[in-house]
Amino acid sequence: SLSDRLTDTFDKLRGKGKLTEDDINVAMREIRMALLEADVNFRVVKDFVARCKQRCLTADILSSLTPAQNVVKVVLDELTELLGSSESKLTLMQNRTPNVIMLVGLQGSGKTTAAAKLAYMLKKQGRSPELAACDTHRPAAADQLETLGGEIGVPVYRGDGKDAVAIAGQAVRDAIDHLRDVVIVDTAGRLQIDELMMQEAVDIKRAVKPDQVLMVVDAMTGQDIVNVVTEFAERTDFDGVIMSKLDGDARGGGALSVRAVTGKPIKFVSMGEKPDSLEVFHPDRMAKRILGMGDVVGIIETAQANADAAAAEDAERMLREGFTMDDMLAQMRQIRKMGGVGKILGMLPGGDKALRQMGGDNTEEQMRSIESIIYSMTKEERARPKTINGMRRARIARGSGHSVQEVNQLMKQWGEMNKMMGKIRGMMGPGSNRKQQK
Ligand code: GDP
Ligand code: MG
Repeated sequence: SLSDRLTDTFDKLRGKGKLTEDDINVAMREIRMALLEADVNFRVVKDFVARCKQRCLTADILSSLTPAQNVVKVVLDELTELLGSSESKLTLMQNRTPNVIMLVGLQGSGKTTAAAKLAYMLKKQGRSPELAACDTHRPAAADQLETLGGEIGVPVYRGDGKDAVAIAGQAVRDAIDHLRDVVIVDTAGRLQIDELMMQEAVDIKRAVKPDQVLMVVDAMTGQDIVNVVTEFAERTDFDGVIMSKLDGDARGGGALSVRAVTGKPIKFVSMGEKPDSLEVFHPDRMAKRILGMGDVVGIIETAQANADAAAAEDAERMLREGFTMDDMLAQMRQIRKMGGVGKILGMLPGGDKALRQMGGDNTEEQMRSIESIIYSMTKEERARPKTINGMRRARIARGSGHSVQEVNQLMKQWGEMNKMMGKIRGMMGPGSNRKQQK
């Protein structure tokens, strides 16, 4: 993956004391290849690498960091910049009731799902949203929205007939009648951009004058993403992007192109099919995730959101002192509690790699197996996994009913996570901590 490639590139630099221009050139070439393979648009890649190289070769270097750390920092800064540098909120007009949010995008991009998630998010913020089913092209589309609305307790306006523009207008009036303060308009999409779909979106926009038009973009879309978002930007002049399906294999290559090509911010990311899996987009976190540094800040916030301050402290301690087997256990418990194994593991340093090693669908089963291995370790061993030598591994394997290979596999995963923690720590430079970083 993109993260693995970039991590390898940085690993190669790390061994060197002083970097020559050749070292930088080699690293930049590898970064370019990695980004291109991750389907980032070639023009975006070209500019990006040129900027990074320029900064690596000029005096813009911090003396508190090693040469390799400086390169990582430059790439991280530039990635963050490319992704939008600051988070971009949903802007709704203060004294307009109802506010209107309209979703556009290709068929299957995740509009209907995102509409429900957005409604759920707004509801949690104390608003009273209503969903408008304006995809009149697919017979089942309104049913789908109605089901989703039912799950989150948000009313769905479906109207009659096939005139999406009329239904959008009626939905707004219906919202006024029922004292709903936000209308989220779900629209039709096609597999490819087509004129009819585009014109309908334009007409709905003209009719209901949305506060925000958001384009839903599937994170798995390859190079084609540039044409699609450019076309939608020209026709619908959307305000921002919801990047969907980021819980899948996609590691944000598309996100890098979208922002650079259209200049439109990514506002939300959608990380699964459940209604609560919509998150505000944080460019800095996405950049770290792309660089394979995990999202430690995200873990801390998720833990806090789940009212588990102890876990938040743990995350900070892990960053400070390294990753123990008890941490691994605690993380797995946390994962269960919060659901969404992929989501949390994906945020852990090296977690996406670990997740893949743990083998997709078997994750829950594999987690149980890891747990039983850790339970067979002594307290000392859990706190200092480095002391677990061959003899101990054999004992742990016997005790937990696993093969030595399985124990070795777990040790390897621990090693990788611990190494990533060390790298993040190293990146932050001596004496600094997360808070100063911000
Ligand atoms: P629409 O045609 O644009 O309205 O797309 P839908 O909302 O119907 O989504 C298409 C498919 O993608 C459905 O099977 C959704 O469940 C799925 N989907 C949407 N968003 C996400 C997401 O963030 N993660 C995952 N894994 N699946 C998603
Ligand atoms: Mg739909």
